[in-house]
Amino acid sequence: MTTRVFGIPMSLRFRGQTLREGVLLRGPAGWGEFSPFPEYGPAECARWLACAREAAFEGWPEPVRAAIPVNATIPAVPAAQAFELARASGCATAKIKVAERGQSFAEDLARVEAVRDALGPAGRIRVDANGAWAVDEAVRRLKELDRFTLEYAEQPCATLDELARVRRRVSVPIAADESIRRAEDPLRVRAAEAADIAVVKVQPLGGVRNALRVVEACGLPAVVSSAVETSVGLAAGLALAAALPELPYACGLGTMSLLTGDVVVDSLTPVAGEIAVRRPEVDEAALARVEIESPEWVRRMEEAAAWLAR
Ligand SMILES: [Mg+2]
Repeated sequence: MTTRVFGIPMSLRFRGQTLREGVLLRGPAGWGEFSPFPEYGPAECARWLACAREAAFEGWPEPVRAAIPVNATIPAVPAAQAFELARASGCATAKIKVAERGQSFAEDLARVEAVRDALGPAGRIRVDANGAWAVDEAVRRLKELDRFTLEYAEQPCATLDELARVRRRVSVPIAADESIRRAEDPLRVRAAEAADIAVVKVQPLGGVRNALRVVEACGLPAVVSSAVETSVGLAAGLALAAALPELPYACGLGTMSLLTGDVVVDSLTPVAGEIAVRRPEVDEAALARVEIESPEWVRRMEEAAAWLAR
């Protein structure tokens, strides 16, 4: 098995990092990506490794669709800039960051209004508070923001109990994102009646087959999101979105623009709001440009492997 460690600068700071790092491994079925976030220990990393190994040694189930619609992501920028970003994206769906620390709710309202103007009445708008609101605050704000017709609200509050309380008081559907970290989490979300939609990522759920089982057991509609991977890792998320029996919402897989480089030539970037389902080949020259030396990543992968072998 070949393993190569990569480090790609990000165009914006993500989870406090400016470099997206991970390991690519090659097996008989192709390349897989192992890129757990820095703070994750071996138990959590083991799932991410299972996903990379599935890609490298087994490949993925047959797709049931040929293209995956994706959302544009609008950061906490001024309204005029949000309008331009939404219009230039080519996407029919936009996810708008709200509740940014240091900003006012008036700025959120103006941003959401600008994106509604940019997408028109047929566009779909979801907001993401990343767990920042308290329950009463979330209820109040979602009712106000819904004057621009929200598709759903992602993680308005931090805990499952808070999400469930908000969900009972607003008509805007609630999606759980940060509440879903591990394979057992979607079932907990469902049991708590905390959300209408599950945002799922293929690496933490242990690969495409495992994620399909988790989503089926959970019974909630799923939105497949990336962990800001290279096109190798994104291909696994795309394969999950392509194999889900139902896919009622645009996915959060249009994240290649967050990285300043890639390891393939035919990057999984959206065209006209969707990504064609495919598995691009790793390009040796592209990979060589972002390859780094990292005993730390070799150690993380060995520890995850040891955990999987228990
Ligand atoms: Mg989110």
